[in-house]
Amino acid sequence: MLDAYRSHVAEREAEGIPALPLDAEQTAQLVELIKNPPAGEEEFVLDLLTNRVPPGVDEASYVKASFLADVANGNTAVDLISPVKATFLLGTMLGGYNVQPLISLLDSTNPAVAEEAVKALSKTLLVYEAFHDVAEKAANNAYAKQVLESWANAEWFKAKPKMPETITVTVFKVDGETNTDDLSPATAAWSRPDIPLHAKEMLAARMDDVPGIIDELKAKGHPVAYVGDVVGTGSSRKSAMNSVMWWFGDDIPYVPNKRQGGVVLGGKIAPIFFNTAEDSGSLPIECDVSSMNMGDVVTIHPYEGKVTNEAGETISTFELAPDTMPDEVRAGGRVPLIIGRGLTDKARRVLDLSPSDEFIRPQDKSQADHGYTLAQKMVGKACGIEGVRPGMFCEPHMTTVGSQDTTGAMTRDEMKELACLGFSSDLVMQSFCHTAAYPKPVDIKLQHTLPDFMTSRGGVALRPGDGVIHSWLNRLLLPDTVGTGGDSHTRFPIGISFPAGSGLVAFGAALGVMPLNMPESVLVRFKGKMQPGITLRDLVNAIPYAAIQNGLLTVEKKGKINCFNGRVLEIEGLEHLKVEQAFELSDASAERSANGCVVKLGAEPIIEYLKSNMALIDWMVENGYQDARTLLRRRDEMQKWIDNPELLEADADAQYAEVIEIDLNEIKEPIVACPNDPDDVKLMSEVVDTKIDEVFIGSCMTNIGHYRAAGKVLESMGSVPTRLWIAPPTKMDERQLIEEGYYSTYGKVGARTEMPGCSLCMGNQARVADGATVFSTSTRNFPNRLGNGANVFLGSAELAAVCAAMGRIPTVAEYMENVAMLDTMADDVYRYLQFDEMADYEVESPKTLAEIGVAVA
Ligand code: SF4
Repeated sequence: MLDAYRSHVAEREAEGIPALPLDAEQTAQLVELIKNPPAGEEEFVLDLLTNRVPPGVDEASYVKASFLADVANGNTAVDLISPVKATFLLGTMLGGYNVQPLISLLDSTNPAVAEEAVKALSKTLLVYEAFHDVAEKAANNAYAKQVLESWANAEWFKAKPKMPETITVTVFKVDGETNTDDLSPATAAWSRPDIPLHAKEMLAARMDDVPGIIDELKAKGHPVAYVGDVVGTGSSRKSAMNSVMWWFGDDIPYVPNKRQGGVVLGGKIAPIFFNTAEDSGSLPIECDVSSMNMGDVVTIHPYEGKVTNEAGETISTFELAPDTMPDEVRAGGRVPLIIGRGLTDKARRVLDLSPSDEFIRPQDKSQADHGYTLAQKMVGKACGIEGVRPGMFCEPHMTTVGSQDTTGAMTRDEMKELACLGFSSDLVMQSFCHTAAYPKPVDIKLQHTLPDFMTSRGGVALRPGDGVIHSWLNRLLLPDTVGTGGDSHTRFPIGISFPAGSGLVAFGAALGVMPLNMPESVLVRFKGKMQPGITLRDLVNAIPYAAIQNGLLTVEKKGKINCFNGRVLEIEGLEHLKVEQAFELSDASAERSANGCVVKLGAEPIIEYLKSNMALIDWMVENGYQDARTLLRRRDEMQKWIDNPELLEADADAQYAEVIEIDLNEIKEPIVACPNDPDDVKLMSEVVDTKIDEVFIGSCMTNIGHYRAAGKVLESMGSVPTRLWIAPPTKMDERQLIEEGYYSTYGKVGARTEMPGCSLCMGNQARVADGATVFSTSTRNFPNRLGNGANVFLGSAELAAVCAAMGRIPTVAEYMENVAMLDTMADDVYRYLQFDEMADYEVESPKTLAEIGVAVA
């Protein structure tokens, strides 16, 4: 085992990265070596056990914790580890499988062991329900009482150094915008769980020899800070933060291949990236970085809110936000702070003490007496209060949580680190939409292992080929509830979601709540009548178009203005929309860098949608989808809502940071996003005649209506001179389109049909030709996402079909002429999947919770 391990170490060293953490089998072999160490290897094997086994509920940590518990209890005697040392080592494992052994050791007849167990538990935060075991034991056990008192006194927190008054760093500057794909490229998604290996890809497409540059900067003797004009836009990728921390953070004692801390300075920092940084113990600061250049040595004064240069001159000022940031940095991140603070509060309640004043408590600073917006009410409901004011810290209940495959492995690892053995969120769903079509061996392995991990904790696992996460997850939502997801397009069309990095998603799934600083809202109010030939996708693009006209959004990155950034986008005036259509609007709020989105809808389309989805759930259970209990509980909740369909509404005197009015009467031609920025929206006539090489109709922005519409246009226009890709969002859409003959049309015009899923949108699977000009219905067109050097326009499926047939962007007249017939057949074309009316999905006797063995009150 040691020989094999050493050659693995050498291989990894040659790549400039540390060995992988030990797995369960290696750990079991290591345990045997520790019992009988080969001469001269004693220190090495002990170091491996101490430092190279992951903590939490990993299978390897189970092996390690069981062995150490045996040694600490005196059941196994080994020369290398005394019972006290074994207890100490158990205390380095953060939570999970070490917790119960440590609680038992409080009863040890060896006082030194019991005392060590007190020290170990006092700094262990991930104890969850085991807290009650300690509290009960404290009645008769002096050691347990010491643990409880230590938690109550926040000793775990006080033992850590405060955030320093000044932090001197060397600047690693990336000009312009860095999106998360620059930091964690989708093309290397497979390597994300291997943090050091994946970190080698950071900025590889942007600059040469990043490791060399960082080494040179580190030689100046200070920590290196990541500095950029706009940082962390794009998908929510914990992996992006992992890579940043790998290069700029500090090692974590006893935790292999992971780092924490570091400083990120950004002119603008995308909200999800900011939160991910906070959660991980990094210090993100939004400030003007225009006077900071690569290699500068600057000093950050976090409490004073300024950055000075080597001459002591102030080169930038900022307001440290949120207020709790000093505590977050001290605790090692927002997540450990919230968990630890909760533990301290609980212990103090048991001991009848008032809340600790060790922490900076989040405050509701608003003196507002006006009404709440719809989003503020939804979040309020999830917190058990009427509403939540902007800036207020809260912990809403997470009714629904989504996880997709390229972040799923990291979410799983975070759940393990949180020592999660069962979800507290009502419904957690895992998909395989990003990797199903062209899987690498590592994807296949994930597809085989992740479903069990999720369903054994009460989650719902989709199957490869089922389709895009959002198109499924939306179908399991409850109105006016709050959720999250590890994909930045987790944007509920009913209720509200706050997408997050995998750390926070794991937190939301495991604890059933999520920390949130309630953002302000921007209201977009539509009025007037939709004009012929105009699609919902044009309304999606009309939002940035109107914001640009109103001076609330700029395309230029330097000094960028974006009124949506970090706020909630609230949309009114389209209450008649179907839920599928509403998603097109909410989905695109990700491109606005909004933190969340709500669309005001009428009860009727929601009831229709839920009825359809209840039928789909019955069909899923009938077809073996797990966890059946979770699915049926959700179905029953939907019925409960239908029985009493009450929807929250914004108060008339609610206040918004901005209000944007859009008159539908004035939108007379399609609006498209131009290469390569979803904010760079123009009227179609401004880009008329641009030659188009490839067309993609797919992504979560689409629903079955789009494919029928495109099919009708293609059928009437005949041959297609472009390369046309078609990938429906779910297998249900695909099946229906095949049955209705649309696949025959796609085939006739030479389209390439892809497996339901993300397809070209994700850019990690098939790609368009290098340098191609593309018209796409997908969500975003960041450089290189769909293909290397590709120039991508974003717009409706209807316009995509016309572009495919003409090989160029049409004139307004040509477009109108070719889509005119869709108006007359709208009822048939824009008809959504109503599963409760489709024979293929009929289940003769739908299961009840009682029938599958769930006790129902
Ligand atoms: S279709 Fe695109 S935006 Fe939607 S989930 Fe997949 S990769 Fe993300």
